[in-house]
Amino acid sequence: MTQLTTGWGGIPPAPGERRGGELSAARRLLRRLVQLMAAPISPQERLDRMVGMIAADIVAEVCSAYVLTGGDYLELYATEGLRPSAVHQTRLRVGEGLVGRIAAQGAVINLTDAQSHPDFAYRPETGEEIYHSFLGVPIVHGGRVTGVLVVQNRARRHYSDEEVEALQIIATVFAEMVASGGLIDEARFPAERRAVSGPERLEGLRLVEGVALGQAVLHQIRIEVTRLVAEDPDEEAVRLEAAIAGLRASVDRLLLLPEVANGEHREVLEAYRMFAHDAGWRRNMREAIRTGLTAEAAVRRVQEETRLRMAHVADPYLKERLADLDALADRLLVHLTGRSLLADPALLPSEFILVARSLSPAELLEYDRTRLRGVVLEEGSLTAHVTIVAKALDIPMIGRVQGALAKIEPGDRIALDGEHGQIFLRAGDDVELAFARSIEAREARRRAYATLRELPAVTLDGIRVSLHLNAAFLIDLAALETTGTDGIGLYRTELAFMVRDQLPDVHVQTELYTKAHELVGDKPLVFRTLDVGSDKHLPYWSFPDEHNPAMGWRAMRMVLDRPAILRTQLRALVRSAQGRPLDVMFPMVAEVAEFEAARRLLDMELERAVKQGQKPPTTLRVGTMLEVPSLFWHLPALLPRIDFLSIGSNDLMQFMFACDRGNPALIDRYDVLSPPVLSFLRELVERCRRAGVTLSICGEMASRPLEAMALLGLGVRRLSVVAAEVGPVKAMIRSLRCGELAQYLEHLYDLPDHSVRGRLRHYALDHGVQLHI
Ligand code: PEP
Ligand code: MG
Repeated sequence: MTQLTTGWGGIPPAPGERRGGELSAARRLLRRLVQLMAAPISPQERLDRMVGMIAADIVAEVCSAYVLTGGDYLELYATEGLRPSAVHQTRLRVGEGLVGRIAAQGAVINLTDAQSHPDFAYRPETGEEIYHSFLGVPIVHGGRVTGVLVVQNRARRHYSDEEVEALQIIATVFAEMVASGGLIDEARFPAERRAVSGPERLEGLRLVEGVALGQAVLHQIRIEVTRLVAEDPDEEAVRLEAAIAGLRASVDRLLLLPEVANGEHREVLEAYRMFAHDAGWRRNMREAIRTGLTAEAAVRRVQEETRLRMAHVADPYLKERLADLDALADRLLVHLTGRSLLADPALLPSEFILVARSLSPAELLEYDRTRLRGVVLEEGSLTAHVTIVAKALDIPMIGRVQGALAKIEPGDRIALDGEHGQIFLRAGDDVELAFARSIEAREARRRAYATLRELPAVTLDGIRVSLHLNAAFLIDLAALETTGTDGIGLYRTELAFMVRDQLPDVHVQTELYTKAHELVGDKPLVFRTLDVGSDKHLPYWSFPDEHNPAMGWRAMRMVLDRPAILRTQLRALVRSAQGRPLDVMFPMVAEVAEFEAARRLLDMELERAVKQGQKPPTTLRVGTMLEVPSLFWHLPALLPRIDFLSIGSNDLMQFMFACDRGNPALIDRYDVLSPPVLSFLRELVERCRRAGVTLSICGEMASRPLEAMALLGLGVRRLSVVAAEVGPVKAMIRSLRCGELAQYLEHLYDLPDHSVRGRLRHYALDHGVQLHI
């Protein structure tokens, strides 16, 4: 970083006064620019005066401001020195000419003789042929170039580092002024404030299906810096120091929390801590203050530089670190301005799409669900809890969208296509119309499915299928009524644990489960005991840092090691079921001994309840999930001990194929509709049938019509599905002849194929099985 010289065109200050004089000249100009913002004049007049002022101060013959317009053009918005008639006429495409190159690369161009540069694009209407030296700097906002500021002189001279720095500081102030309005005539060029890069399509991973339209809301909003120029740099330096100290302390505090003891979260915070102590970062901000910026404008200036670098580096590790530094600058701005990074709920648009790096279930639930239409994440995976919550709430969601936060501006229109894992940004009327039609069509399909509500889930050959729901929250239970399903096949109790900031005690849990019983009424309700660990973490617990958490200390293993937690839950379940039936299901059981240990705890709680004079449940049904393959070979010992068995296909498949269920790279590697899975399930169905144990499936497989069709052909008669898929699954059931399909499946078990999905789809087509209305 460099000093400023007074008389930026090269007039040297008096010896001995140089430093103080330079700085005060720079500050004077910044102050005058800010004063101009308050003057009661039109935006164009303001801009004209501004370039005049900069030219005079820098002693340049030309000062021009180019602004990026909607179609990726840089338009001459104001000039001192070039022909006034060229204003709003001269336009350069991004990448074209020197100005376009500055915008494309986000870099400064400083030339003694611009006209001999191969990129020089001569525009006769400007009359610039007489100017030789050229200095252009990008105007950057939100990590994107929004315009270019240029000074030119007739003489062939080289602009000094000090002059470059000075113009960059002015460009910083300029960018913030454009962003806060009043500098660009919005009535004339409404789209321009957002520095629109035109429509864009971004790809990601499909997490929750569905289609949505809405305005972008960034989970962490950008803090607008309104105070740009300071009277007293020393005071600003003190403010910066205090904010950095506050920031360091807050990062240290976060690092002490037990839940960040291990894992990815800790790595991010460690990176934050490293940057919070980085001398270079601090020095850059301090130097920006010395040129006249406020502490917050200095932070923003350095942040914009970081963002530009981020846009141009390819190395993912470096990009990630720059993103950390960017996030840290936001936190520093919180300390300086006292503003929050969270969107004000009152200001949320009526239909919005939330954009975030990552999101916890609790954070998602904080947003008004009547207005939230969809979610775009830079991270995220299929089994992350936020995905399960979004699915339960039927909010379309796409994850792993690279650079989403850098590319999407608050207020951008987003068309989210959750079916194909893509979003269209600022797509224009045609795409919006197509999406609106698709949303309408989905609604119509929903209405058509709703007409099936009263009709039984019976196949054409008379087989009655039990159709149950998967639920995670009390609000999900209302869908029992709207979908006309037979009961709750899986109540994931851990969600209620995850959205709290402390472990719910026996009273809180009893209340919760009692409400669940009340909402479900006489229909069956299967409570699955706590299934945490792996990717499901509790904010108030520290989980071990495991190499392979999906196969780690989770679910049953965890609560058997900490029996007090399971006992508390079982006690609450027993209490809530007084005078009612109680169905309890244990997750991730790998062998009979685990089931027995859990069952003993349940029996102890039942005995305790009776001793205390409580009414016992009217009936008790106890079962397990089949998620760990080893349990299959323990079925002879297990089946006589249980009342029901439910296939947790999400986990079961990842263990069968040794294939992480959350890894997008493996999504198409194996197929659940493949000979090994079908053979395994056929055998399982047969064993349960012989033992008289009810077999159901509650993994996602059951919620997809084609997979559900195969399951019926295999003999599964109880499906537990997500509410949004009840209609499609029921339509499939009502158009299927199960016996015929069972015969057809006989041909598939021994095939060497990777998948029999195509064959089953053809079967459905040929036999009129409805996979979609
Ligand atoms: C499963 O694994 O299939 C299942 C239903 O449990 P979860 O998705 O909650 O792990
Ligand atoms: Mg599971």
